[in-house]
Amino acid sequence: MAGNWKMHKNAAETAAFFGQFLPAVRNTEGREMVVFPTFVNLAAAVGAARGSAVEIGAQNVFWLKEGAYTGEVSAPMLASVGCRWVIVGHSERRHYFGETDDTVLKKTAAALDAELSPIVCVGERLEERESNATEMVLGTQFTAGIAPLSPVQFAKICIAYEPVWAIGTGKTATPEIAAAAHHFLRTEIRRCFGDDAAAACRILYGGSVKPDNIKGLMAQPEIDGALVGGASLDPASFAAIVNF
Ligand code: PEP
Repeated sequence: MAGNWKMHKNAAETAAFFGQFLPAVRNTEGREMVVFPTFVNLAAAVGAARGSAVEIGAQNVFWLKEGAYTGEVSAPMLASVGCRWVIVGHSERRHYFGETDDTVLKKTAAALDAELSPIVCVGERLEERESNATEMVLGTQFTAGIAPLSPVQFAKICIAYEPVWAIGTGKTATPEIAAAAHHFLRTEIRRCFGDDAAAACRILYGGSVKPDNIKGLMAQPEIDGALVGGASLDPASFAAIVNF
């Protein structure tokens, strides 16, 4: 269960979130929880979550370790403040900031080198779904951004299927639509990495996940977890999702 805060919450709001969220989390047995604050609040979030089952991740990473790259943050820097995870290839980064499948691949490899766990996002736009191009888009993103990883690298990533038309729109994919996309991705994984990798890979669904739709989504065997945006900002609502 992953909560992507995007560009929300200052330092005080970050601390206040954990003060309310941690006591509200019940079912931690076998359940991984990660919160993705902004870069500047990562260290504070790591401190606030220390001793709990909640881990902290970053929303982006650069693929080189250091150098003259103004404004960028490297994977070893994230690891050095206690970050364990990173989101790579979120559709907002792909569409507003020019992220490509090639940079997704480089960022994923860099994250793995620093022992961060990447959640690699893929997903189609509305016009692509409406023109029956969903599998073509997912297949291209997978083939160019994920398939070149080695089997050892692949075993350490999670994939998030996030249909762009469902992100921040209140329009969740039905559990069946999400499961069909996950099934397609698992077929691609099987083709490139084999049966065991396909069975083991965790594929999260993201797109307007809320406390009232999480149960239906998680009832699909193809759906292994959720990447939650808006509903992860409120401690009670994210707790309801992780406690589903
Ligand atoms: C996201 O940011 O990854 C996301 C799924 O957002 P939301 O839950 O708000 O649709």
